Amino acid sequence: MWNILNHLPLLIAVSCCALFQPLHAAWISGEEAIMGTKVNVQLWHLDKREGEAAVQAVIEEFQRLDHKLSPYIEHSELAIVNRVAASKPVVISEEFYRLLEASLEYSKLTKGAFDITFASIGHRYDYRKGIKPNNSTIDRTLPLIDYRNIRLVADNRTVSFEKPGVRIDLGGIAKGYAVDQGIELLRQRGIEHALISAGGDSRLLGDHRGRPWHIGIQAPRDKARMAAMLPLVDNAISTSGDYERFFERDGIRYHHIISPKTGRSADTLQSVTIIGPNATRTDALSTSVFVLGAEKGMALINRLQDVDAVIIDKDGKMNTSDGFADADSQ
Ligand code: ADP
Ligand code: MG
Repeated sequence: MWNILNHLPLLIAVSCCALFQPLHAAWISGEEAIMGTKVNVQLWHLDKREGEAAVQAVIEEFQRLDHKLSPYIEHSELAIVNRVAASKPVVISEEFYRLLEASLEYSKLTKGAFDITFASIGHRYDYRKGIKPNNSTIDRTLPLIDYRNIRLVADNRTVSFEKPGVRIDLGGIAKGYAVDQGIELLRQRGIEHALISAGGDSRLLGDHRGRPWHIGIQAPRDKARMAAMLPLVDNAISTSGDYERFFERDGIRYHHIISPKTGRSADTLQSVTIIGPNATRTDALSTSVFVLGAEKGMALINRLQDVDAVIIDKDGKMNTSDGFADADSQ
């Protein structure tokens, strides 16, 4: 007869394993269109339901930030600032204040290549409809693009603009910030392996369970092809390209990265990819290096210890920063 007592130790061992074994451990993913792009979350979780809740929390964080930072949502904090800040100081949330401070720091670091006041002219472009400002409008409004036209006062947490007509847009940093916020949420939930991407901005938490994540850099003139694949762990990576939002007229490509010096699309590169410790930084720097061009952009990246770059120039030629050579020789 089968004696249950004889098998008790074995039964206990089996049921303990059942308790501690991640029976439903799995990769869980979600995707949603937010901030004008595709937000993708992938994570490894021992519990499917908790994993799905974590994906949902990230999506909701993106939605929260979209409602705060979008220039297209009438009552977003950004839209209110754009309407009011030229006539009087506007009290803003701590989070918005920090983002403006960070943006101004990138303006200083890049000698004005990164400048959220680009929107003073930038809002006159509509890439979907093929609309652009004419030359005299650009000449007249160019002085509005200058990050020094933004005044922040920490004591009462206000922002004001020095000139009427100044506008800001956080499109060059907001997605990276949202990705970082999402990663922080996942970390707080004890998740150790995850990827969050929002269009060209991604960040990885840990590795892909024992192997690196592989992130592709798109070939700028061939959507079906990758120009390179990078193995990454615990990093952020952002690509800025002239192929995401653009239209062409008379042989000129009008796209969404604006040189603050000219009020026109920066035209010396096809794409810039930055790899670094967080997505706020890689997002801001990929836009900046795109504006700076290959020589000045690469010099900046090689001067900064914590970032690397892959630059694809006008002829489709790829250049990499010193960090890649160091990695090769190790
Ligand atoms: P994407 O938005 O496609 O990920 P980027 O990260 O390069 O690409 O950001 C481009 C966005 O940055 C533009 O859509 C615009 O909102 C903003 N932008 C454009 N030019 C500048 C600039 N000189 N400085 C700061 N932000 C900019
Ligand atoms: Mg960017």
